[in-house]
Amino acid sequence: MKNILAVLSLLIIIALSFYSFYGLMPKYDESAEIAPTEFSVDRALTPLEEIAKKPHYLGSEAHTDVRKFLVAELRKLGLEPHIQESFVFSPGSKSLNKPINVVARIEGSESGKALLLLSHYDSAAVPSFGASDNGSGLVTILESVRAYLASGKRPKNDIIILFSDAEEIGLDGAELFVNEHPWIEDVGLVLNFEARGTSGPSNMILETNGGNSKLIKEFINANPDFPVASSLMYSVYKMLPNDTDSTVFREGADIDSFFFAFIDSHFNYHTANDNMYHLDWNSLEHQGSYLLPLIHYFSDADLSSLKSETDDVYFNFPLIKMVHYPFSWIVPMLILATLLFLGLIFYGLNKRKLNGKAIALGFVPLLLSLVITGLIGFFGWKLLLVLYPQYLEIQQGFTYNGHWYIMFFVFLSLAITFGVYKRFIKNFNEASFYVAPLFFWLLINLVVFIFLKGAAFFIIPVFFGLVSFFVMLRQARPNLLAMSLLAIPAIFIFVPLIQFFPVGLGLKMLFISCVFTVLLFALLLPVFSYYKMTNLLSILCLLLAVFFFIKAHLDSDYSEERRKPNSLIYYRDSDSNASYWLTYDKEIDEWTETYLGANPEQASKYLENTSYSKYGINFSYAAEAPKIDIPEFELILKNDSLIDNLRNIEFTIVPHRKVNRVELYSTQDISFNTLEFNGQKVKLADSTKLYRGTKNAALVNYYVSEGDSLKVKLSVEKSSSVSFKVMEYSFDLMDKPELNIKKRPDYTMPKPFVVTDAVMVKRTFSIDSLRVKLSDSIFGINPGMN
Ligand SMILES: [Zn+2]
Repeated sequence: MKNILAVLSLLIIIALSFYSFYGLMPKYDESAEIAPTEFSVDRALTPLEEIAKKPHYLGSEAHTDVRKFLVAELRKLGLEPHIQESFVFSPGSKSLNKPINVVARIEGSESGKALLLLSHYDSAAVPSFGASDNGSGLVTILESVRAYLASGKRPKNDIIILFSDAEEIGLDGAELFVNEHPWIEDVGLVLNFEARGTSGPSNMILETNGGNSKLIKEFINANPDFPVASSLMYSVYKMLPNDTDSTVFREGADIDSFFFAFIDSHFNYHTANDNMYHLDWNSLEHQGSYLLPLIHYFSDADLSSLKSETDDVYFNFPLIKMVHYPFSWIVPMLILATLLFLGLIFYGLNKRKLNGKAIALGFVPLLLSLVITGLIGFFGWKLLLVLYPQYLEIQQGFTYNGHWYIMFFVFLSLAITFGVYKRFIKNFNEASFYVAPLFFWLLINLVVFIFLKGAAFFIIPVFFGLVSFFVMLRQARPNLLAMSLLAIPAIFIFVPLIQFFPVGLGLKMLFISCVFTVLLFALLLPVFSYYKMTNLLSILCLLLAVFFFIKAHLDSDYSEERRKPNSLIYYRDSDSNASYWLTYDKEIDEWTETYLGANPEQASKYLENTSYSKYGINFSYAAEAPKIDIPEFELILKNDSLIDNLRNIEFTIVPHRKVNRVELYSTQDISFNTLEFNGQKVKLADSTKLYRGTKNAALVNYYVSEGDSLKVKLSVEKSSSVSFKVMEYSFDLMDKPELNIKKRPDYTMPKPFVVTDAVMVKRTFSIDSLRVKLSDSIFGINPGMN
């Protein structure tokens, strides 16, 4: 009988662990009939197919097509969309581009603040089809607004729809809306839809300058069916440098956002694999399950009073959906738990159910397990990177077989922990052994209180652990079924986190999964410590670990399903009239070898500066390339004159081929009194009234659309000599007949986060060298440099 109960309790724990993942999000059901007033994935897929047909980064032809399509879709909904466009220069990223936003509005019946639905429509510039990032967001809004309007309701608040542009470049479309669109004054709340991968549950994250209490209460009132949100995620998000369009609304206009993003399968993010095939329809269903109820709720809610001073701890929980309580409860809960803990120890010692020596001994297996598994997780991943160097090419930090590795490390940790505990735990010292885990968890909660208050809900499973502890003190053989039910909060809260850390932050976080596995195991000792079958379980876990390791190994190579990112650039140094092949790859493959050879030189041999990527990734290898004819850009000096001892210069860079990017660098340290790109004034540092250009640092990264040129206007001290370096990029390497580039093998794809498959031209020039032409010019402007 006891054995049956033990097996049943184990099955319950396994089932609950499964449910803690699978209960997080809705399941797409192909056969379901969806009412016109509901969100339907099938209906959303029709426009999505159109949007994700081709890569549609800013400046591409498909970008214009997608914009026109979105305008037409909004018109189909009976709205009158308009376009907002202007050049934007971002001082931080030094990016210059012309975002073209699509904006529409549904009039409300009252004059309160408006609800803004937001999603960007540009895809990443490495040919990414943008089905998830961010087609999924666009169709979530289109389909939800359609369903809302089909209900025949008239909203109290206005609903503004913003399909922003140039998010991938530097959040510039959102910047343009926040800084220049008159409707920004009306906005009370933003709902923003995003994707940082192609699958997994969508996480709700808050963006606010103030406290979150009011916002989180309203979110709970709106009552979405599958909320996935926690104050822990919010705290971690705030510590990371991830910015979204929502950040622009918060920083620029103090407007709060709920933003929703699915982040699993990160390896597909910003790659050619972000396509219709890889988008998980359950994730799209999840996005829809948020937005429709939120439109219904917030279109009628008072959006002028969402600000609060105080913060709440919150987390999602199956069936209850969301739990929340104010930060002010954290300390009393911690004190209460500590007092209960001490009281129970006192009680147990008094009743001779606990003994001091056994309590002390209980710390040994816990510490041993934590240290061993933590070290294995930390160094194990480093070792895997040595054994499988191809993983380093996946810049997202999460490999195609990453989920198998999570399973491997978790089961290995369980095998070790079961094994270690088996050696120490004896009949009749189970209760004493539970003191160490409870002590540790209280300690963790103390640390959390000091450094990461958002994780304060970790105390809740501890309270249930204290109840289990009490039962252990009262009964020699507690009912294991009852004990496994008391473990529900621990399982529902911590099991998803074991996976969340490596999925969210990369496989370098595997050691956190290992440590969390041990800590969760220890919290479940009221069940596990009574098992007679721990040896068997340890062996079973080890076998599972081996199984998952083999799975991972079998998926460790590149294939059509798991494509290797690689890169190739044709580089023309116009100054020395030399041409090179370049790559960012660490590993040369059969495709790059065709151009670079099997043993290429280090790129630093040919380039004085190997980092032209804003992510700080350097070119690795280079080889000489054949010379082809590339039409040079033209430099037109329009003005070079002296006014009040300042040298005023105006020139234009006119590309004579279809280029996608132009970067301008200063070749020496220089201070500008004024600086302007395509009419956008660069703000000068207040203290000096000067804008400092540093040698070899980009002054502007210009993302070209519609064949625009780059107009530069500046003034400097009259004695300054002024010279620049221009880097000009076109994404047309594959279409150059003279270079005759082979089609990529099917197991490779263009590398994300860098400029690849591009023709890159470098040229330096000084203004003085242009003046010769200017003095001949028909305008006859006085160069004034004597
Ligand atoms: Zn995005």
